[in-house]
Amino acid sequence: MSASDADPLARFVRSVQAAGVQRMPRVDKPAAVAPLGGATLDALAATISACTQCKLSETRTHAVPGEGDPHADIVFVGEGPGADEDKSGRPFVGRAGKLLDDIITKGMKLRRQDVFICNVVKCRPPSNRVPEPDEVAACSPYLAQQLAQIRPKVVCALGATAIRRLIETDEPMGRLRGRVFEAYGFPVIPTYHPAYLLRNPAAKVAVWEDIQKVMELAAKS
Ligand code: SF4
Repeated sequence: MSASDADPLARFVRSVQAAGVQRMPRVDKPAAVAPLGGATLDALAATISACTQCKLSETRTHAVPGEGDPHADIVFVGEGPGADEDKSGRPFVGRAGKLLDDIITKGMKLRRQDVFICNVVKCRPPSNRVPEPDEVAACSPYLAQQLAQIRPKVVCALGATAIRRLIETDEPMGRLRGRVFEAYGFPVIPTYHPAYLLRNPAAKVAVWEDIQKVMELAAKS
């Protein structure tokens, strides 16, 4: 028996895919996304690191499960790992990651380890292309289980790809910003990706508005 055969999450992912399920269903309440038996964040990370459920496993150096406080009130979800993340196995560690660090530490007055940071897909798409629908579908159960374990008060979607994949829409970012959505039973606030901010510094004003909304939701009991 291979290691992945013995892993309950890997078996679950294969079983739902074999049954033709392309996406994990959205739910109305966080409690409805029940953690798989014993699937702690560490166990999930180990499963993700060995995952071969989609073709991105063939080109990655390291899978990037995500990192941070396992009980975080705030989860940041980006699109997918880039070159620096693929090399290190850690999320948001390049130039865009440094900007996200600044948002967290200088803007929110938190530490990076106080939040949880991850991506919609856990392995780098070649040449940083947008993740394809089959890759997002294959990886979605991992994000669902991470959120079910963490049970954050709010999810901040970083960039158009992240929010479109989370709420299944093709609307442009300009129409999505400033609104609160729901995915997997958790409130989701979209904002611009830090990489976009590097190219368009004027968007920092809009991002700060969004981050303040994130902090408002996180402060609610
Ligand atoms: S992107 Fe997700 S589903 Fe695809 S191989 Fe990586 S961890 Fe597995």
